[in-house]
Amino acid sequence: MSDYVDSYYRDSRQVSLDPAPALAEARRVDVAIVGGGVTGCATALDLAERGYSVAVLEAHRIGWGASGRSGGQILTGFGTEMSTFATALGTDAACQAFEMSREAVRLTAERIERHAIPCDLRAGAVYAALKPRHMKAFAAEYEHMREVYGYQALHWLERDALYERVRCEAYIGGLYDAESKHLHPLNYVLGLARAAQQAGATIYEQSPATRIEHGEPAVVHTAHGRLQADYVVLAGNAYLAADVAPELAGQLMPVGNYIIATEPLSEAQVENTLPADDAVSDANFVLDYYQLSTRPTQGPRLLYGGQVSYGNKPPRRLAERMADKLGRLFPALSGIGIDYSWGGLVGVSRNRAPQFGRIGHNVFYAQGYSGHGMALAGLAGRLISDAVAGQAERFDLYSRLTHRRFPGGERLRTPLLVLATNFYRMRDLI
Ligand SMILES: Cc1cc2nc3c(=O)[nH]c(=O)nc-3n(C[C@H](O)[C@H](O)[C@H](O)COP(=O)(O)OP(=O)(O)OC[C@H]3O[C@@H](n4cnc5c(N)ncnc54)[C@H](O)[C@@H]3O)c2cc1C
Repeated sequence: MSDYVDSYYRDSRQVSLDPAPALAEARRVDVAIVGGGVTGCATALDLAERGYSVAVLEAHRIGWGASGRSGGQILTGFGTEMSTFATALGTDAACQAFEMSREAVRLTAERIERHAIPCDLRAGAVYAALKPRHMKAFAAEYEHMREVYGYQALHWLERDALYERVRCEAYIGGLYDAESKHLHPLNYVLGLARAAQQAGATIYEQSPATRIEHGEPAVVHTAHGRLQADYVVLAGNAYLAADVAPELAGQLMPVGNYIIATEPLSEAQVENTLPADDAVSDANFVLDYYQLSTRPTQGPRLLYGGQVSYGNKPPRRLAERMADKLGRLFPALSGIGIDYSWGGLVGVSRNRAPQFGRIGHNVFYAQGYSGHGMALAGLAGRLISDAVAGQAERFDLYSRLTHRRFPGGERLRTPLLVLATNFYRMRDLI
């Protein structure tokens, strides 16, 4: 079992959790949750606040997975276009789904405020176009989101207006989303876990679930203990092994995604990169995304993400290649030192829409947010706890989406996705 990856977030933790021992007994609880990322911790918090007895099993440490390593962008919308929802469920349901994605962002901010989580929450996200076809797609999205979804928080940015916010000559324009936000992801998830503990949830770290015995109650086994529970929530996302939930095998593609953190920037460097302190992502399929960190005692660092890989190994010369790319985007950062580089697994679903569902009637799962889960995972916690409490309509709106497995089984699905992604990567270059 491991401690946190060597990331900037680990070294700037501000939330300390009460010690969480490994599970070494047999316990009876109302709800057993497998996975201590945002999905698991938000679910634990909501259920504990409603008076359920809750235990979270985390294989490593709270926030060890994608949640504690991510780019920290808290975005409205989904990892897929709204047409995925509209085509499958109709326009009304798509509108409800989109409204819930806005709720996800508000809920994140509310929990942070209510539980005084020190995670540097700030507003504003820019979507940047590199090519005329990106601008064309943004223009269509801008109109569509206003007209069909009534979303007025998106603002159109011509090249000069974008340059005021993001000092990158390569961008030809874009969109500014005033509702989306960004934060320090590890402090956020640790803060959720601390709030869940304070509300009465028990957290067990270094406690991988090895097997689930389905039934009423269900039994979740670990190497040295077990939880008997009326409900089980699977919140292991891209890290959940197929033998714990064979029913979900092939539903997700775990894709490696990587971030570097620069050395602290000078005021002039901040002014020449992100003077408005926004989160940014570009419009490429394999996209760049970044934000500034906040450090009261030093200049902020640029946290710059975007490289992907499909095996367990990071791409070769990762930090060097990303630093070169960063220097090309922002000449003010050319040759800057890189103090950290790390990666994690994104759970990508085939249609890039989140997967919510049940196995039998008492095992819930939420996963596959496809790079867009920092806000949605918090919403998943609310919807799962509503469903456990008997109000499943909103959970079911998502669970009605049908999801196809990746073709090719365990052995072939990665090469197939690599082929598909290489195609899009080539397209990003054109
Ligand atoms: C590098 C990177 C950058 C990203 N950037 C963004 C971003 O800017 N914005 C955004 O919206 N999304 C982003 N994402 C995606 C986002 O981080 C995820 O969608 C979100 O964190 C998912 O949360 P989760 O709780 O479902 O999963 P995770 O945070 O991955 O948590 C799952 C946990 O389950 C545990 N687990 C697995 N199996 C078991 C088991 N058998 N027993 C016990 N525990 C188990 C794991 O150890 C892990 O801690 C990024 C992801 C990565 C990797």
